[in-house]
Amino acid sequence: MLKAVFPGSFDPIHNGHIDIANRAAKLVDELVIAVFDKPLKNFLLSPEERISLVKGVFKDNPKVTVCGYSGLTVNFCELIGAKVMIRGLRVFSDFEFEFRMALANHRLTQNVEMMALITSEEHTFLSSSTVREIASLGGDISTMVPKSVEEILKKKLSNLGDNNPIVPGHTLRD
Ligand code: ADP
Repeated sequence: MLKAVFPGSFDPIHNGHIDIANRAAKLVDELVIAVFDKPLKNFLLSPEERISLVKGVFKDNPKVTVCGYSGLTVNFCELIGAKVMIRGLRVFSDFEFEFRMALANHRLTQNVEMMALITSEEHTFLSSSTVREIASLGGDISTMVPKSVEEILKKKLSNLGDNNPIVPGHTLRD
């Protein structure tokens, strides 16, 4: 029985994540989507909101379970008996980051292997920060995220109004 963990912040989950998770789930017996909940960075959505959105997306896939975690991802993998960690690769900069992370993780334990899946072409540009930024500027994110995510972001961002420290206005504003 092969169990894998797909870890991430999922702030919010988007179609790039969903594609990787669905493809990974076909390769293993159980895929645990692990939502990082230690507030090391400024998250837009709370851990409960992020977990609940991910659960909603995969509610009909019996191979996928969802839970929150904090601390070292390899420790979490070992704790639940997962031998594989799934990552998604978009561009070369992802590769460099994941390469270093995989080596660091391998130093910590030899019991968990990293498996990286290449993104599908149409999701190459997608990241949670891009989604947050477009949404915060009133752009259309309907082709990037499920409806449930679109709705919660709209609500959240309208509550924050202009006092939004979470979405840096750089790349897409000009
Ligand atoms: P983190 O914030 O922890 O880097 P994310 O929640 O952004 O993680 O992403 C979790 C995983 O999903 C990472 O492996 C990341 O590379 C992958 N991922 C993110 N966006 C995409 C995408 N568009 N296509 C494929 N994989 C992606």
